[in-house]
Amino acid sequence: MEPDIVLSADRIVTRYGGIKALHGVSLSVKRGQIVALLGANGAGKSTTLRTLSGLIAASSGSVRFLGEDITKVPAHRLPHRGLVHVPEGRRIFGDMTIKENLDLGSFTLADDVERRRRLDHVFELFPILARRQNGDARNLSGGEQQMLAIGRALMAAPKVLLLDEPSMGLAPQLIKEVMNIVQRLNREGVTILLVEQNSKVALKFADYGYVLKAGRIVLEGLGSDLASNEAVISAYLGGVAA
Ligand code: ATP
Repeated sequence: MEPDIVLSADRIVTRYGGIKALHGVSLSVKRGQIVALLGANGAGKSTTLRTLSGLIAASSGSVRFLGEDITKVPAHRLPHRGLVHVPEGRRIFGDMTIKENLDLGSFTLADDVERRRRLDHVFELFPILARRQNGDARNLSGGEQQMLAIGRALMAAPKVLLLDEPSMGLAPQLIKEVMNIVQRLNREGVTILLVEQNSKVALKFADYGYVLKAGRIVLEGLGSDLASNEAVISAYLGGVAA
């Protein structure tokens, strides 16, 4: 493996019962990159992320993270190794406070000083979460919930962040805000694998991109090359590229 590849999938096949959702997906993410994983509804983007983070087991193929084979490592052991997944739909706990949701992200950490440092970092990135830290998470807007989901992931001090459609359901201004945060995190050293249906948004930021269709990678390339190839991508995405 090239030394600068921090996360890779090698011919992963993933099934839901008898149905094959991934037919041998291979991809790699280099240290410091933002890599976009694009594709239409049902193409297998979320399944790829779930397989990488151990939430579903691949039936064949392998996943490597920081030079180690993690194919069989259970999902709950990966965050403290530095691989953190922000799932689609945010999955925050509405009847807990914002602060309690954030604390869940650092549950593996015994060091209170370090936990406080991470919390301060999250509050600096998302001042709204600081202001409303004692309020119930259910009262946050969609955009704020996305910020909370990302904030909770940051509490685990990720080296690689798997982000599943952070723009979903957000107004354009909020998409911009969330993507600015993603870019800032990347500049601070977090490597990012970003799942998006909205290829325009993703390719504005991505160093490299993959396009999935029906469980297979059908196109890959530098973000800038893919961005200038919007028509092709749009065809693969079934017209969702705009
Ligand atoms: P979306 O953005 O709509 O989530 P996606 O590209 O992330 O799309 P996946 O959610 O990974 O796609 O779905 C890939 C395929 O696996 C689809 O055919 C989907 O119907 C199927 N699938 C996904 N989750 C399950 C599940 N829990 N049980 C059975 N089939 C599933």
